[in-house]
Amino acid sequence: MSKEKIPYKIYLEESEMPKAWYNLRADMKNKPAPLLNPSTHKPITAEELEHVFCKELVKQELDDHTPYIPIPQDILDFYKMYRPAPLVRAYCLEEKLGTPAKIYYKFEGNNTSGSHKLNSAIAQAYYAKHQGLKGVTTETGAGQWGTALSMACSYLELDCRVYMVKVSYEQKPFRREVMRTYGASVTPSPSNQTAVGRKILQEHPGTTGSLGCAISEAVEAATSREGYRYVLGSVLNQVLLHQSIIGLETKAAMDKYGIRPDVIIGCAGGGSNLGGLISPFMGEKLRGEADYRFIAVEPASCPSLSRGVYAYDYCDTGKVCPLAKMYTLGSGFIPSANHAGGLRYHGMSSTLSQLYDDGLMEAVSVPQTDVFAAAEQFARVEGILPAPESSHAIKVAIDEAMKCKETGEEKTILFGLTGTGYFDMYAYEKFHDGKMDDYIPTDAVLAESFKSLPDVK
Ligand SMILES: *Cc1c(COP(=O)(O)O)cnc(C)c1O
Repeated sequence: MSKEKIPYKIYLEESEMPKAWYNLRADMKNKPAPLLNPSTHKPITAEELEHVFCKELVKQELDDHTPYIPIPQDILDFYKMYRPAPLVRAYCLEEKLGTPAKIYYKFEGNNTSGSHKLNSAIAQAYYAKHQGLKGVTTETGAGQWGTALSMACSYLELDCRVYMVKVSYEQKPFRREVMRTYGASVTPSPSNQTAVGRKILQEHPGTTGSLGCAISEAVEAATSREGYRYVLGSVLNQVLLHQSIIGLETKAAMDKYGIRPDVIIGCAGGGSNLGGLISPFMGEKLRGEADYRFIAVEPASCPSLSRGVYAYDYCDTGKVCPLAKMYTLGSGFIPSANHAGGLRYHGMSSTLSQLYDDGLMEAVSVPQTDVFAAAEQFARVEGILPAPESSHAIKVAIDEAMKCKETGEEKTILFGLTGTGYFDMYAYEKFHDGKMDDYIPTDAVLAESFKSLPDVK
């Protein structure tokens, strides 16, 4: 199709927006491995999970068979505030690169939380409200998830308690204030408020925290309080389900113009945006209807898929959560200060882990300074200041486009631009000042970390 016929931005009409989430697991022959009870190592039951998570979300978590799950009307209405997200044809970037490739990105940064996280936050808050709960607790690393959840909770008048990884709490005071603007309470983690926080502080005095610690604290805060449940912004099957809205909208927009991507790229922290973006395309691949290349992009400092092992592991440092089978670096792995805070989790969604293990998806890891160079290149031609997390996908999309320049292939490249980087200027500053380092863990460091994996028979 000629350039004239494909607009810079493809939006869907309200009537064309998806009405149901797509559950990729329904089409997987090899289902993701079940969550296990951390003490008995037996598959965890719905009843056990309901102590921690909302009932309806537990149902979604354990449902490997229903392909389409209707989106409740209240959530559809909330989505209309900031969706559909635009699918952008990166004409300016293509021209600058001089590539024959056609580049598209789905931009999820058009809301105050600045990321795709709101897609699942509103769903999880909705089900908590529906169950008659008073509030929810959660952790946040970089702060996008905490912000998204505070927005969703304030909309539905739910109490929201956020445990924020201490280093981010200190480095990103403005993120913290956005959360408080939406009425959430924000506690730096590890804290003295929970038993697990006190224990971690005693064992590691002066620690600046990690996502794994903050998760343990948030879970304890929820389970020790009447009328509260814990919610998580990534990794879980239910989150991938909600994030399928990204891929469904993308596919509908592409189908409208007869566009077919050859390669689909996303950054991967816990796997929710990537899982959401690829889901309808991966569904076609699994059903044998079409073929695509999928690439997960990780930071070289925290390469769960590219250098981790596929095993059952703890999801949190305090070992209070169910065990998940996933590509993991070990729950004790604390990545060096990396500025893509949202990509620092030690494990990966069990759904994506299974797809990767089955050879249906590729993974690459990229060093931090290359990522920021790509971010800057992108910002200068496309106008959007990208989040460091999203810039991992930009980096690999540019690499793929440059390969096309060498070979003359006119491939269609799609990537997920998950958010904006306005709260990450400290990291940008380090990059501009040449003070950013490219720490990559050695094999010995990883081997040591793998020793902490639980012995699951
Ligand atoms: C949280 C976050 C990510 C990574 O999380 P996934 O669950 O892997 O999607 C990526 N980009 C942004 C902007 C984020 O906030």
